[in-house]
Amino acid sequence: MEVRLKYITPDALALIGSYASICYNSKNEPALNVKRALHCKDRGHLSTLRHAIATFHIKGISRVCSHQLVRSKFLDVLQRSQRYCKEKDVVFVMPNTSEDLTTEIKEHYDSCYALYSKLLSSGMLAEDARFVLPEATTTELVVTGNFQAWLDFINLRMDKHAQWEIRIVAREINNILATHAPGLFNWAPEITT
Ligand SMILES: Cc1cc2nc3c(=O)[nH]c(=O)nc-3n(C[C@H](O)[C@H](O)[C@H](O)COP(=O)(O)OP(=O)(O)OC[C@H]3O[C@@H](n4cnc5c(N)ncnc54)[C@H](O)[C@@H]3O)c2cc1C
Repeated sequence: MEVRLKYITPDALALIGSYASICYNSKNEPALNVKRALHCKDRGHLSTLRHAIATFHIKGISRVCSHQLVRSKFLDVLQRSQRYCKEKDVVFVMPNTSEDLTTEIKEHYDSCYALYSKLLSSGMLAEDARFVLPEATTTELVVTGNFQAWLDFINLRMDKHAQWEIRIVAREINNILATHAPGLFNWAPEITT
């Protein structure tokens, strides 16, 4: 899996704080603005956070994981199409299990891929051949969200009740955001699954 930051609003905390200054008739000064942005988050004045955005390029997650990700309605997603792109040299995500079962799962993935290739060779469209591919098939997305949407996503998906794969994605995103907007996002230690 790879999670890369493509874009983030420059000086996001200062910007959020400067916009929020109009709510309070406060001084628009850089040091005060950062403080004000964090204060807004702590007080639940969360619409302020919608004025900064971040875009991530996420590669190599399963379609199980991407399906969970797209449920967050305020994240805007572009996903590699299985209708228009044929799956070549496809990689499958493997759940953690015993060596014997890992071998069996791998055989299953291989046979699914063999059937997919056979269907394509028979002239079937990729959009129909994909029905036989497992949910473990990896995918690629570009995801943009405002800071409130990312906070919601991180709170839901870094939590221990979420599944291990999306927890890793959420942690990666959180830790990148924590370096750009510390205090709004806080660095999180390794995920234990
Ligand atoms: C551990 C876990 C297990 C899950 N299991 C399942 C499952 O079995 N089946 C399933 O279908 N889904 C499941 N989900 C998905 C879950 O139900 C949500 O759809 C998903 O997490 C997105 O959350 P959200 O809709 O709250 O967030 P977003 O879409 O990101 O919305 C953000 C916030 O906006 C507000 N909001 C959004 N929509 C509305 C609305 N219509 N009305 C009022 N306020 C709104 C809420 O405050 C919400 O927290 C699971 C999620 C988790 C984390």
